[in-house]
Amino acid sequence: MTDLTEKALRRLGERLPGRVSRPGHGRYRTATALWAKPTGAMPQAVVHCRTAVDVQAAIDTARRAGLPLSVRGGGHDWAGRALCDGLVLDLADMRDVIISPDRRSALAGGGARIADVLVATDRLGLVAATGSCSGVGMAGLTLGGGYGTLIGRFGLALDNLIAADVVLADGSAVTADALRERELFWALCGGGGNFGVVTALRFRVHELPSITSGMLIFPFAEAKSVLQRYADILPSLPAEFTLELGLLAGPDGMPVIFLLPTWCGAPGKGDALIARLLEFGTALDSTVARRRYGELVASLDRHISYGQRVFMESCWLAEFNDAGVDALVEAMANAASPGCAILTHQFKGAATEVPLGATAFGLRRNHLLVELLASYPDRSDPTEDERHRQWLRSATQAFAAHALPGAYPNFLPHGDVTRATLAFGSNADRLIAAKRKYDPDNLFRSAIPLPRSAAIKAAD
Ligand SMILES: Cc1cc2nc3c(=O)[nH]c(=O)nc-3n(C[C@H](O)[C@H](O)[C@H](O)COP(=O)(O)OP(=O)(O)OC[C@H]3O[C@@H](n4cnc5c(N)ncnc54)[C@H](O)[C@@H]3O)c2cc1C
Repeated sequence: MTDLTEKALRRLGERLPGRVSRPGHGRYRTATALWAKPTGAMPQAVVHCRTAVDVQAAIDTARRAGLPLSVRGGGHDWAGRALCDGLVLDLADMRDVIISPDRRSALAGGGARIADVLVATDRLGLVAATGSCSGVGMAGLTLGGGYGTLIGRFGLALDNLIAADVVLADGSAVTADALRERELFWALCGGGGNFGVVTALRFRVHELPSITSGMLIFPFAEAKSVLQRYADILPSLPAEFTLELGLLAGPDGMPVIFLLPTWCGAPGKGDALIARLLEFGTALDSTVARRRYGELVASLDRHISYGQRVFMESCWLAEFNDAGVDALVEAMANAASPGCAILTHQFKGAATEVPLGATAFGLRRNHLLVELLASYPDRSDPTEDERHRQWLRSATQAFAAHALPGAYPNFLPHGDVTRATLAFGSNADRLIAAKRKYDPDNLFRSAIPLPRSAAIKAAD
């Protein structure tokens, strides 16, 4: 570290007393512990921001000292983009969620997690369109997309964004919505954390006192027939019914297949469809019940491991057919370890009704997001790395012939501008123009990859 950097960090510490931590501090350790074990260089300091003014001070310091900067929301980005080797802006102290008096929207701090949102909505019989893991940051989820079990009725998380308070690269604080900073608002809806630090976001919430949802678990020996039935039933499911699935290691380490049906229409009307799923095979367990949406998300958390070495891939399938069935079964039969899993998310209904150019998100047709995960307990082992990477490569390859171009931007690896260009499709040029306008020096480069010519400076 140069004297200049040291001086700048010391001055920042004086400006924000008690809010700057350095390696060895407890708060530094908490902020730099992510869902996936970090493997890159660690930050020189973490700024524990409480307000937009703190964010402005941190940006000012990073710019003056020429330090790389990154934003830590929920810490669930698999590629560790919350961290960099300069200054990390930790938003964990900005997690308040306030429901509007008319109960139609929520205002959340830039560091609010899905859990924070659902605690606020559940007790009022409301829901927000979120993903399925409590610890994920609401901003990180929303800026990149936001698939979830309510997607058919309420769209992606980003389709529900109403406004965002943002601190830009030049330190100015703006509000972006349909009327103010419209181009920024458009870019935030899918372009990830590439445009500024979101210090607060307002999004729609919806009346929905209960859903019917839970996990149905079948033995892996029945995977092929369960998957075939899954493929058959998918196209006929109504918008209020999503059916996610996963193949992962069960409690004894052997793979199992689970279905996650979610009915979010009128109570009771989805029961017959759920009963049909029970006939897919020999259900080993069922947790399907009528419950609050937040209870469902909380119940899924026990299947999530933290601090592992993680590699991830994803692809978009226009339809799920026999080839997809075979690819899934084959991949799990050859899993490198019990840390390998494959999950699907549906994209349908309300999410497909949003015009393609209305937000930066580049794919608006019905599709299935396939998420492939290879993880193993944290220890540095190049052989294990390679084994898991190899499994991921061949499992992903098996889907390649049937996949749509691109992949879910929130899951793309560092610097994958080629697939980012395909993923944003016809929205790519407009996104590049927004990047040039709002962050011409690419200060916010520790974020999901942007299309090719937007990579103004190398991402890593
Ligand atoms: C277990 C697990 C479950 C998941 N489930 C889903 C799911 O159901 N649906 C889905 O769509 N995705 C899901 N994801 C993916 C997740 O949405 C993305 O990884 C998301 O980026 C995580 O956000 P975060 O704030 O937790 O991450 P962080 O690692 O804290 O941040 C990642 C990046 O997001 C940006 N960012 C975060 N907060 C801000 C902010 N306030 N302002 C500006 N930029 C910001 C920054 O670029 C940052 O580098 C899941 C991931 C995991 C690990």
